[in-house]
Amino acid sequence: MRCLQSLSRIEIRFTIMKFSIIFHLSLLSLAQFALSEKQYRGCKVFTITSLANETQYNAVIDLQKVRGVDFWSEPSRKRYTDVMVYPDEQNNVEQYLAEYGIDYKVAISDVQGAVDKGKDLRSTRQNSQEMNWKEYQRLSVIHSWLDALAAHNPNIAQIGSIGRTTEGRDMKTIKLSSNLRKNNPIIFIDGGIHAREWISPAVVTYIIGKLMSFEPEDREIMANVDWVFLPVMNADGYEYTHTEDRLWRKSRSIHNGNDCIGVDLNRNFDFHWGENGVKDDPCANTYHGPYPFSEPESNATAKFMLANRNRIRAYITFHSYSQLMLTPYGYTEDLPDDYDQLEALGKRAIKALEEVHGTEYETRTVVPPVILPKEYLRSNTHSL
Ligand SMILES: [Zn+2]
Repeated sequence: MRCLQSLSRIEIRFTIMKFSIIFHLSLLSLAQFALSEKQYRGCKVFTITSLANETQYNAVIDLQKVRGVDFWSEPSRKRYTDVMVYPDEQNNVEQYLAEYGIDYKVAISDVQGAVDKGKDLRSTRQNSQEMNWKEYQRLSVIHSWLDALAAHNPNIAQIGSIGRTTEGRDMKTIKLSSNLRKNNPIIFIDGGIHAREWISPAVVTYIIGKLMSFEPEDREIMANVDWVFLPVMNADGYEYTHTEDRLWRKSRSIHNGNDCIGVDLNRNFDFHWGENGVKDDPCANTYHGPYPFSEPESNATAKFMLANRNRIRAYITFHSYSQLMLTPYGYTEDLPDDYDQLEALGKRAIKALEEVHGTEYETRTVVPPVILPKEYLRSNTHSL
């Protein structure tokens, strides 16, 4: 884990429902591509260091509409905002930022160089049950490892599947519990909604490995609770980032009439769908899809959560990057009823994280929207 943490910044989001959580993790060193893979030569990352007022903030929000600009982090008044800009747009973007008096610096002068530097972290193994966290694993390795874990520990681990992706990949889950036969309260944890956020499945699998490593006498954490993990929700996109385009984010669906492929899966849920932090441009990285739950991945996840809504006590989803633990809501500045509980738990988690490696996180509500806040899960009136 240390090797991953030294290369990455991690962001956490969370909600209680009793609580659901969103964890944002990140990877700064990226892996190398074969020559056929998409190249990012000359692309720069601008870090917007401060947004002094509403006008500057809105100007950056508007910048999201420009093609040739890829926001790596959400526009924020409190934190840095990272934006990758393709060569053809760089002069325009610099002029635009200057016009609004927005401070920025060039964080990465050639994104392809950063991608190439990460080549040693990319696993080339595809058929192995041997897992490690020194490099980023292919989906087949992650799934084989989960299968082997369950096969060797049938009393506490059970493989499941919540559905199939657009390209037919398994949405494989693993349940860990000291009593698999009982319907315990569930803690649901997913990773890899966004394909390029490789640190997310790595951390989710690391947590699985850690829980499995506990001696039987130390397994109170698995008593009377079902830990259900979906390490790679966007399996198609994840594989695509390993073979074709390191910076791919969305799913791999094709919708009639759209110029571009894929949907931003965590903006595809039917809770205040299309309201904030989304784009209706199919070519945008934050495209919310043609309609709610247009994607089999988000649809299957929601079905699983709705089917288990009376048992799910916590939902945690890992993203990257930045070091944040985020709580609902994203569509409104109103706080959930149990925000105090969420915040207190977030602070405890942040303190615990800091005690390990001194990593500093902050907690706050989600911007932009997160999937499935608690009201959604308590409702059975929404159609999927
Ligand atoms: Zn993400």
